[in-house]
Amino acid sequence: MMNHIASDTTSKTWQEQLSTAVSHPSELLATLGLSDNLLAGALRGDAEFKTRVPFSYISRMEFGNANDPLLKQVLPVDNETLDVSGFTMDPLAEQSSNPSDGVIHKYKGRLLLIVSGACAINCRFCFRRHFPYGDNQLGGESWQQAIDYIKAQTDIHEVILSGGDPLATSDKRLKKLIQELSEIQHLKTIRIHTRLPIVIPDRVTDELLSWLTSTRLKPVMVIHCNHANEIDDAVHSALQKLKKAGVTLLNQTVLLKGINDDAEALSELSHKLFQADVLPYYLHLLDKVKGAAHFDVNTQKAQEIMRELMAQCPGYLVPKLVREVAGEPGKTSISV
Ligand SMILES: *Cc1c(COP(=O)(O)O)cnc(C)c1O
Ligand code: SF4
Repeated sequence: MMNHIASDTTSKTWQEQLSTAVSHPSELLATLGLSDNLLAGALRGDAEFKTRVPFSYISRMEFGNANDPLLKQVLPVDNETLDVSGFTMDPLAEQSSNPSDGVIHKYKGRLLLIVSGACAINCRFCFRRHFPYGDNQLGGESWQQAIDYIKAQTDIHEVILSGGDPLATSDKRLKKLIQELSEIQHLKTIRIHTRLPIVIPDRVTDELLSWLTSTRLKPVMVIHCNHANEIDDAVHSALQKLKKAGVTLLNQTVLLKGINDDAEALSELSHKLFQADVLPYYLHLLDKVKGAAHFDVNTQKAQEIMRELMAQCPGYLVPKLVREVAGEPGKTSISV
């Protein structure tokens, strides 16, 4: 048995868990009983992109293991300060498909709304590490503009709430957004892209289940889970609640060197997700963002891993290997 960190998260609301997230590398290292030798590098990484990890997520890490696959996703390291050619500040050049504040309309039939610039956790590999997106999200006036834009584009049938993490915002606000969207007749589906059910499973509140499933829009949730160890009993039951309420559950994973870059790890993840009624959707190659080059798995290696995964898993447990290419009108799928 692995030795995990005891944590008392059960008595705290999700908002309290958010606001008490660990925000200093020394606290993260101390909680896990790790050596201060790691601190200098962690502080240099932290200066590039703030540390942020809720205790619920830390509780699933192994005490004393500097190579824990969850820890490596959130502990800043010295390598983040490296300048590696091809790794840039804004790898997706998203600013260019931004018809109105908080709206990204790149793909036919679907449109993405940036509901919240905030995240519950700061993942070191995130392409948003240089743009917390604080000034490109939906406030009062930009919300009305987004609604008008969607109303005018009658071929849009699906709205995707994204961020940051859209669930970092209140149920009250989300309920209002969904109700207004549901009045637009050509919309059929509401999709939420979120990592919060993984990071703080208590975020799956009764209120959330209610606003997500009480309109005529078909609810889809795409969670972001990278490793089987992220799914403990609390996460499993949060996912089961969503499923029972009628939400279609899919997962996207980022392929990360030293964390999940082998067929066994991905197969275990797929099987554990399926036990919680989640199907694998996308396996993303890393976006080439400055400071994340040490996580990169090259395309050839990724294809090898995929072939092995296909040999080990039934087809429905194999995600699609994709990469985002700036300016392309869809995710680019990579043949295996
Ligand atoms: C990924 C993504 C979508 C949704 O793409 P699907 O292939 O439908 O999952 C929509 N808009 C943006 C900007 C995206 O990055
Ligand atoms: S957007 Fe997703 S990957 Fe990026 S920091 Fe937030 S939760 Fe992590």
